Amino acid sequence: MKKIVIIGGGIAGLSAGIFAQKNGFESIIVEKHHTLGGECTGWDRQGYHIDGCIHWFVGTKEGTPIHDLWTTVGALDGVKVYHPESFMAVEHDGVTVNFYRDLDRLKSSWLGISPEDKEEIEEFCSDIKRLHSFSVPAGKPLDLMNPIEKIKYIFSMKDVGPIMQKYGKISVTELAKKFKHPALREAIASFMPEGDYGAISVLFPLGTFTSGQSSIPKGGSKALAKRMVERYLSLGGTVEASCEVVEADIKGGTVKGIKCTNGKRFEADYFIAACDAKVLYEKLLKGRYPDLEFEERYNNPDTYPLASNIYIGIGYEGEMNDVPRTLKFPVETVDINQNQKPIEHLQMTHYDYEPNFAPEGHTVITFAINQFEPELDAWEALIKDKEAYAKEKMRIGEAVIDAMETRFPNKKGKLKLLDVATPQTYVRYCNAYRGAFMGFWPTISGKSLNHTGRIKGLDNMLLSGQWLQPPGGLPVAVITGKDTIMRICKKEKQQFVTS
Ligand SMILES: Cc1cc2nc3c(=O)[nH]c(=O)nc-3n(C[C@H](O)[C@H](O)[C@H](O)COP(=O)(O)OP(=O)(O)OC[C@H]3O[C@@H](n4cnc5c(N)ncnc54)[C@H](O)[C@@H]3O)c2cc1C
Repeated sequence: MKKIVIIGGGIAGLSAGIFAQKNGFESIIVEKHHTLGGECTGWDRQGYHIDGCIHWFVGTKEGTPIHDLWTTVGALDGVKVYHPESFMAVEHDGVTVNFYRDLDRLKSSWLGISPEDKEEIEEFCSDIKRLHSFSVPAGKPLDLMNPIEKIKYIFSMKDVGPIMQKYGKISVTELAKKFKHPALREAIASFMPEGDYGAISVLFPLGTFTSGQSSIPKGGSKALAKRMVERYLSLGGTVEASCEVVEADIKGGTVKGIKCTNGKRFEADYFIAACDAKVLYEKLLKGRYPDLEFEERYNNPDTYPLASNIYIGIGYEGEMNDVPRTLKFPVETVDINQNQKPIEHLQMTHYDYEPNFAPEGHTVITFAINQFEPELDAWEALIKDKEAYAKEKMRIGEAVIDAMETRFPNKKGKLKLLDVATPQTYVRYCNAYRGAFMGFWPTISGKSLNHTGRIKGLDNMLLSGQWLQPPGGLPVAVITGKDTIMRICKKEKQQFVTS
């Protein structure tokens, strides 16, 4: 039986492990953290559970390939799905713009706000609807398809391709400016900061959301990852946790083993790096096997930006059923030293629909403040002074509570700060390059990427995970984990199986 060592126990590593076991390999996941799941996680604070990941989960619609894949890896076993009525509500000058799941409702509510934007609203909604025929491809990756499969794949994209092209060429800012009403402009612009970010980042989430392909599996991110761990172990997989891999031992183009900080060494026939790509290329391979596509991206952060966030957990002594699940509201008082521009909006999500996330009668709320280049630099510098870093986190958390109390005076005195994570938190726990919580972000000047994970010069090591296909996220992680095992099966000349 051939052996596979998987470096990293996030969603990609777990997916690779599950398919390795199903396909008759002996596998082990080596994970630096004491728990598995990587960035798909959550944590407990003062009797509350802070969900650190899923805000929308592509794969909740039965009968789609991505739903089948999530089911195969055990992520959705016996799980109820929560279908929020709105993706997000954005307040601007007393007007609330809702991104409703029901596209007709979205359209009529926007027309109610701005009849003079009729043409734009109709075009926007009709383009979102055209994306409904798209289901995330989760079968064979392109490089393993035969010519007939490739033709079928291209044909399946015939409705979606033109929309991807159209919105891939304009920025979020340009899309927002097409609307006359300031609230609609604000709502669209609030998806990404001003700049080169492709408007596809607005269309794709709304396409999957309004077609019912993305919702929220109940129980949260940590529970979802735990179900995948259970599936992996039940198939005979093994896990070595709290074990950071630091080096690959290479002889003549073949990886012989990997070495860990605790002195342990693992040998295998194949090695899958389901960890951060930068960790692979720079740390494990010591820069000896650079990849030109990744190099280009690392060297041009303006064209290939990364995103992270400040993630604030707050406990509320009460229920939040009077507030939309995800709400963006204007603020005047929050000053984030790392940001070059003042914060004009805050985005909060509450978990009223998850009673087990908070003590009875209470609710947990999270605030995500996106951090892009160059804020990531500022955090990298600040963490060098541990005291100043801790102080800044608390200051930001308290400022957010003040802003929330200003917006919701009826909640004054009932909010308490639970936790503040920063881009550096993701560096510390997941070795995430610059704290990025997704892959490279699509911009209108950047080239698209669909990497096979193969490493030039090495015949038995492959990269897997969110970095292979922008912008990353959970679907890319679970798909690429499976794809990597498909590639290994092909090399071994064996039929890939899913059951
Ligand atoms: C706040 C937040 C919100 C998000 N919201 C969503 C969402 O709503 N929907 C969505 O689809 N996605 C979301 N994401 C993104 C999603 O979590 C990630 O894209 C996905 O989990 C990445 O999975 P991965 O397995 O590719 O990588 P990771 O999760 O980064 O896993 C890599 C693993 O490798 C381990 N590792 C790293 N280096 C080493 C080493 N040297 N040795 C051993 N182990 C190592 C790490 O500890 C980690 O466990 C969100 C992320 C965050 C942080």
